[in-house]
Amino acid sequence: MKDLNIETLLTHDGKVAHSKGAVVPPIYQNSLFTMESWDAIDKTFDDRVNSYIYSRGNNPSARIVEEKLAEICGGESAKLFASGMGAISAAILSCIKKGSHIITVKNIYGPANNLLQNYFKPKFDIDITYISGTNITEFEDAIRADTSLIYLESPSSVVFSLQDIETVVKLAKPRGIKTIIDNTWASPVFQKPLSFGVDLEIHSCSKYIGGHSDVVAGVVIGSQAGIDSIFTKEFELLGAKIAPFEAWLLLRSLRTLKIRMDQHQKSALEVARFLEDHPKIEKVYYPGLESFPQYELGKKQMSGFSGLMSFQLKTSDLEKIKKFFNSLSLFQIGVSWGGHESLIYAPAISYLKELTEEQFAGMGIHLGDMRISVGLEAAEDLISDLDKCLKLT
Ligand SMILES: *Cc1c(COP(=O)(O)O)cnc(C)c1O
Repeated sequence: MKDLNIETLLTHDGKVAHSKGAVVPPIYQNSLFTMESWDAIDKTFDDRVNSYIYSRGNNPSARIVEEKLAEICGGESAKLFASGMGAISAAILSCIKKGSHIITVKNIYGPANNLLQNYFKPKFDIDITYISGTNITEFEDAIRADTSLIYLESPSSVVFSLQDIETVVKLAKPRGIKTIIDNTWASPVFQKPLSFGVDLEIHSCSKYIGGHSDVVAGVVIGSQAGIDSIFTKEFELLGAKIAPFEAWLLLRSLRTLKIRMDQHQKSALEVARFLEDHPKIEKVYYPGLESFPQYELGKKQMSGFSGLMSFQLKTSDLEKIKKFFNSLSLFQIGVSWGGHESLIYAPAISYLKELTEEQFAGMGIHLGDMRISVGLEAAEDLISDLDKCLKLT
């Protein structure tokens, strides 16, 4: 089946049997699986990773989705989690031990950074080196004898800077350093990090994979041995398992992943080009624009670009910025992204809670930075909404 196209793979449900010919598999809303005999249950324990015993381990509703995600990402196996953060924490824990050195990039997803910096670091004596990640020599310079993990997010959050995945892996592998990538932005449709040799690929399925803003979930994809090890340790023991209904919703979502991503990409490019040419806009951060500094690298390692971008308003007058933000009618105000609906969020809202304007400007973030998720509405309507409200700035 390996040579089928992604649209076809997403539409068929693989090996898990459908009950009574139902065109959509049922939700396996059960906590345990009964066996016929002493010998039967005894035998399943010999292969816990592949058996249905108890739904904290495997459940068919999750399994269908795991097999499908492994296949479209080019991995041997996958494990769903209750959230993206569940997947990220399990993946990182599987690669580190007390005192490990980790290399990561600035502007990784905020809570992932909090997990490393404010939780793992003090608790497990982890040492972390932050680099911009846009230049391979930064990775070379950061590597130490005790480096056990390089944690990537490409494109990264807010500013969408890229890392050259293939080159980083070539550096890491011979030194026995594990690599993890958060591939949520590109989705499995537009970027295949496992094909470059990355050890573990993670997604927040709450974004594009779910796509309907009705599920919180995460996934880790990798080799059979890597995922089997996570299964018996970080997955089963920490217990962040997905509910059968959430998994079933993801199966529903996956059927349209490719066509949704194509549409997000098309509309996002139109919106980005409109913003780039607009006199009230200082800067647009979108890897799909030819003017994006790492456009060539993006083209090399991604087959497309998704719908999340940032832009900086020219004005730094907070009243005007708020007026713009509050006046949009098609971009709803909220965190998260990747759903059917367009959203807007201002990173300054988070940063103003902890930092001064000068401090977050030092991180490359401005008061007038806006993050938008371009949804599935007509691009023309989104552009006229933006245009109307930009006049207010
Ligand atoms: C949302 C998000 C996560 C975390 O996923 P949850 O499902 O919310 O736990 C991780 N990485 C990125 C890039 C995200 O946007």
